[in-house]
Amino acid sequence: MKNIFIRRKHILKIYNSLKKKKELFSPLHKNYVGIYVCGPTVYDYLHLGNYRTFIIFDVIVRYFIHLGYKVRYVRNITDVGHLENNEFEEDKILKKSIIEGIEPMEIVNKYTTSFHNSLNFLNLLNPNIEPIATGHIIEQIDMIKKLVKKKLAYIVNGSIYFDINKYIKLYNYGVLSNNKIDNLYTSDTFYNKEKKNSKDFCLWKKANYNHIMNWTSPWGKGFPGWHIECTAMSIKYLGSYFDIHGGGIDLKFPHHECELAQSNSIYNTNNSSARYWMHSNMLTIDGYKMSKSKGNFLKLQDIIKEYTNNCSNIFKFFILKSHYRSIINFSKIDFKKSEKSYLNIIRSLEILNNFTPTKNTQDNFFNTNDWIIKCYKSINDDFNIPLLISNLFEASNLIKRSLLKINKDNFFLLKKYMNYFFFDILGFKKDNSLKRSNNKSKKLDIIIKKLIIIRKEMRKNKEWYYSDKIRKELLNIGININDDKLQ
Ligand SMILES: [Zn+2]
Repeated sequence: MKNIFIRRKHILKIYNSLKKKKELFSPLHKNYVGIYVCGPTVYDYLHLGNYRTFIIFDVIVRYFIHLGYKVRYVRNITDVGHLENNEFEEDKILKKSIIEGIEPMEIVNKYTTSFHNSLNFLNLLNPNIEPIATGHIIEQIDMIKKLVKKKLAYIVNGSIYFDINKYIKLYNYGVLSNNKIDNLYTSDTFYNKEKKNSKDFCLWKKANYNHIMNWTSPWGKGFPGWHIECTAMSIKYLGSYFDIHGGGIDLKFPHHECELAQSNSIYNTNNSSARYWMHSNMLTIDGYKMSKSKGNFLKLQDIIKEYTNNCSNIFKFFILKSHYRSIINFSKIDFKKSEKSYLNIIRSLEILNNFTPTKNTQDNFFNTNDWIIKCYKSINDDFNIPLLISNLFEASNLIKRSLLKINKDNFFLLKKYMNYFFFDILGFKKDNSLKRSNNKSKKLDIIIKKLIIIRKEMRKNKEWYYSDKIRKELLNIGININDDKLQ
């Protein structure tokens, strides 16, 4: 199998948001992959769309590991500086601390813990490094100093802004979001009278007398802007140019566009930050974008509790059955359909994992090697997980129908790769899935036990034809009756 494994590694294609096309993945350093994913601003519970992003990038990281790469996965925590759009408003964390009547750092702790618990619950891998913005203030100040020195940033009354007009004379702007600068900001949404131009963005904000979260800088007491945090942390842990930068599609502009502008300015190039940019699409609820003001904000905990009997795998399956670049719409009907499909695969995996083939039959109706290649092909085509899942369905149906007829070698290969794809790459939790399936099949167990008793009676009465038929049917679903033991 090693041949298939090695061959697949070299044909992974990724849709690069920067180039607007699928490109062959080639790491900057042989056998190493550096990936930065923008983490949450820890001022509230995350919504379902945020979890979608982290589930997708978990699969991406798992796949690189499966292919044998040494991966450095960096995902940050933003615990300061995420201002509301017009930059007049307060830091989101500070604002929430006033609402909840606790210290800003208590807010940070509360929602970081909730975030970590949810990700563990979803069985997502921990990043190799999880840098925190307030732990990297020195790096951010250093970076701002460089931008000021290059005259690409200016100081006004203790705050510092990035000078977009100067930047566009030297470098490209808007390449990521594929837009001309005047279209990027259609109004003065970002207007602030300190700015030379409404398109400029904040690098460092002067702290007002009542702003608790502040740090000493060469420009007085203040705090960093959101965009500079990710530039400072990604460069520190992955270098000026690394393999993949990812995040939700809503971060493409302005966050990622601004990150790119900052690092290009520091390294005097149009090609800094990441070689491949990947963005996962949003999740809507009954056709509407999720937002707190619309009242359709759904928390992961509520969904899991209400619809899945505490099975995180079902939520994950619902997310993964759509391609990461398409919009997912959450509706109760679709969610239920997805649960049915998930249980279908899980049951066939149970059969597969509990079955022991006895004969080496000569089958020619299922070629496991071709099936494995097809599965890899799906993932290698820009992580087409829905297609991978449909391949798993194909195998699943075969397991339920014709397990007895599969050749012994094919059986073991199928078993190995079904488990690889489902548990190792897609990251489904083993105990969780089986528990859920077991709950559903308790009644089935009772029926099977009764059938075995009836069959025993039949054998006593020498009704061989039907007793043998029952034995074969049970074997087809992975239940092997040893008649020596029964008698
Ligand atoms: Zn970021």
